[in-house]
Formats: sequence, structure tokens, C-alpha cells
Amino acid sequence: MKIKHYHENPPTAGLPIRWHDWFARNKDLSKCIEALFNLPPLSITCSGTIALVVALKTLAKDNPNRKCVIIPAYTCPLVALAINHCGLKIILCDVAKNSFDFDFEKLALLLNDQVLAVIPTHLGGRIANVAAVKKLTISYNITIIEDAAQALGAEVGKEGDIIIFSLATGKGLTMYEGGLLTANTPELRQKIAETIRQIPRNIYWEIKRTIELAGYTALYNPLGLYFAYGIARRKALKKKI
Ligand SMILES: *Cc1c(COP(=O)(O)O)cnc(C)c1O
Repeated sequence: MKIKHYHENPPTAGLPIRWHDWFARNKDLSKCIEALFNLPPLSITCSGTIALVVALKTLAKDNPNRKCVIIPAYTCPLVALAINHCGLKIILCDVAKNSFDFDFEKLALLLNDQVLAVIPTHLGGRIANVAAVKKLTISYNITIIEDAAQALGAEVGKEGDIIIFSLATGKGLTMYEGGLLTANTPELRQKIAETIRQIPRNIYWEIKRTIELAGYTALYNPLGLYFAYGIARRKALKKKI
């Protein structure tokens, strides 16, 4: 007799969330992460993308004449959306051969006093060379934003002026959605906190995210995924869709 298995292997997404995580008391998430990874005081945002928007808006306020942001030509598309959202211009820099990191000769040619920020990106488990970016940018007074969306817990964030992390599903450490950012000076951290204070709260988003998180807690496990994903997928495969 064939035994039916109600089981689907979830793709890895860090530690699975449990219902009792919802009721963790007296725990400040940002303080826990700061202590765990020895990071400066962190601000929490609803996503890594918004962390980047906050960083860019903070810098744009102080530098109204600098309109360009340099990113690696191969990166997460949300980075481009964040820059565009802030009304800034995206400048792509080629990546080096066999690497996700900048081609530094090309980067040097793109720098001028119109550039607001350069975003070295730690991608796919590879650490970007931020010190090399700093060497090139320092004479132009350009801010370095480290995109460490995929690198929370790695040895990163020591060279950049601002660092952003993502807590989204599919990143190394996840809590379904969320972002973090910090800066290497108290003044810049203060300005970032001020930008965050100016973002209006949207109760619709709070409710939507809470429902999504409940769904994720209930279904992102072998049994839940069988019903939420496996059945429909098998049906589709049978029909050769
Ligand atoms: C995922 C990711 C982002 C955006 O983070 P979200 O939390 O998904 O908004 C930015 N940059 C890189 C490199 C990423 O991988």
C-alpha cells in the first residue's frame, strides 16, 4: 500500500518562524542584532529597499547638487527602484571579470562631484572590496553606502559610511520582511533617524504585513507548504503548464 505524504520541502529561508516568536517579551530586535554582530546602533525599516531609500533621502537633503548614484551593473533590481524613487540618477559601473564587484578602473572614470553615493554590494556570499572604493571616492567627498542586504552576520560595514541590511525571505537571516541600517558617525545616524521619523505611518501596510507574517508562520513548513503550494503545483505539472 502506498502511504500518502503530506510534505513539501521549503526552500531555505533562515530559521523557521514559530508562533511563540510572536510573543517574545522584553527583547529589542535592533539591540539584539547590534550585540550579536557588534554593529553600531541600528534603525529598523520595513524592508532593505526602504533602508536604502532612507539612506539616499538623508544624503540628498544635505547635498542637493549631487544627483547621481553609482551601483554595480549586476545587482538586485530593487536597488535601482529605490534610487529612481528618490528622483536620483542611476549610473551603472561594470563589474570585474569573474566577480560581482566593481571594475575599479571603470569606477574611477565615473567619479565626479555630481555623485552622491557609490553602493558597493556584498552579493551571493562574496564580500565587496569597500576599502578600494573608499580610496577612489575620498577626494570627491562621495558617501559610500554598503549594500549588505545579503550579508547580515558577515564581516562587513567597517569601511562604508552607511550600511543597509535586509531581513527578507531568501536572505541569510530572515524574519519574512524587514530592513536595518546604520552609519559610522552619530551625526549621520541622527539624520537617518530624523528621515525615518518623517515617513508617515500607514496602518494599511501594518495590517497587511501582520497578516502576511501570520500566513508565513502558519504555512512556511513542510506540512503547510504541501497545501499552500504543492497541490496547485502538482496539478499544474500534470496539465504540463
Ligand atoms: C534583497 C536585496 C535588496 C532589497 O532588500 P528587500 O528587503 O528585499 O527590500 C537590496 N539589495 C540587495 C543586494 C538585495 O539582495
